[in-house]
Amino acid sequence: MEVIDRRSAGPARVAIVGGIHGDEPAGERIVRRLAAALPELSGEEADAAPDGEQAVGDGNARGVIRLVVANEPALEAGVRYTDVDLNRSFPGDADSDEYERALAPRVAEAVRGMDAVLALHTSHSAPPPFAIYSECTESVRRTVTGMPVDYVVDSGGLRSTTLDSVVDHTVSVEVGRQGSEEAAEFGYEASLAFLRAHGALDDEPPTFTETTVVEGFEEVPKGGGEPHVHYRNFETIPQGAVFAHDDVYTHRVEGADVVPILASEHGYEDIFGIYGRITGTIDPPEE
Ligand SMILES: [Zn+2]
Repeated sequence: MEVIDRRSAGPARVAIVGGIHGDEPAGERIVRRLAAALPELSGEEADAAPDGEQAVGDGNARGVIRLVVANEPALEAGVRYTDVDLNRSFPGDADSDEYERALAPRVAEAVRGMDAVLALHTSHSAPPPFAIYSECTESVRRTVTGMPVDYVVDSGGLRSTTLDSVVDHTVSVEVGRQGSEEAAEFGYEASLAFLRAHGALDDEPPTFTETTVVEGFEEVPKGGGEPHVHYRNFETIPQGAVFAHDDVYTHRVEGADVVPILASEHGYEDIFGIYGRITGTIDPPEE
C-alpha cells in the first residue's frame, strides 16, 4: 500500500483509494494524476500527518487529501488479486498468510476517521457510471449528489466485506469499463467533483444534483455454458421477462420494477449481476 498526502483547501479530511483490484488500472492512474495535480503538504503539515496515521478527533487538525494505492503486487501482476479478493476480505486479519486478508486492515486504518472516502473501481459491466454505499450518512449524501452520477446503489443489504461496508462515510464508484480511457477520464473528473463537494478543492464551486437510489437485493447466479444477458444496467426488466440465461439457469423476473446492477455476460465468474429496485432519490445537502 502506498499513501500520498496532499493539501486540502479547507479543514476537510478526505481520502481517495485506487487499486483495490489489480486488474483495474484506472484507479491507480487517477490517484497518481491527482497526486501530481494537487499541492503538496508543507514540511510541518507532513510531520503532523505521517503516512498511515492520523490526528483523528483533534479539532485543530488540518485538512488533508489522502491518496491511497491499495494493492501494489496485484497491480504489478495485472491480476484482480494475488491470494483473495481484497474487496471481499474486509475487515480482514492482520495475521493472515493471505496477502489481501492481511492488507485489508491496513487499508481500512489508513482511511478510517476521514470525513469522506471514495473508492475507485471499474467493471466489465456496461455504462453508465454509478456509486455504491452501504450506509447513507450526511457525508455520503454529499459525495453521491456531488459527483456526476445519476444512480447510487444501496448495498447495505448485500455483502459486508467491502471497504464501504466497514469504513464510515465511504462511497465506492464504478467509473466505467475496465481498461477504457473513458473510465480513467471520468474517474478523474468524478474525483475532482468529490473533492469540491467536501471543500477539499476550491478551484470551482461544487454542483449537487438529485441521485436515484437503487437497492440491490439478490445476486443472480451463473450455472455454466454460454451466458446471455438481456437487459442493461438500471433498465427496468418487464415482469415475466428473462433477465439472463445459460445452460443451467433461466432467470425470469417475477417481481415488478426490477433493474439489473453490474449486468454482464462474461465479467464475473459466478454471477450475471445483481437484481435491484429503485427505492427513491437522495436530495442534495441543504446549504
Ligand atoms: Zn474493483
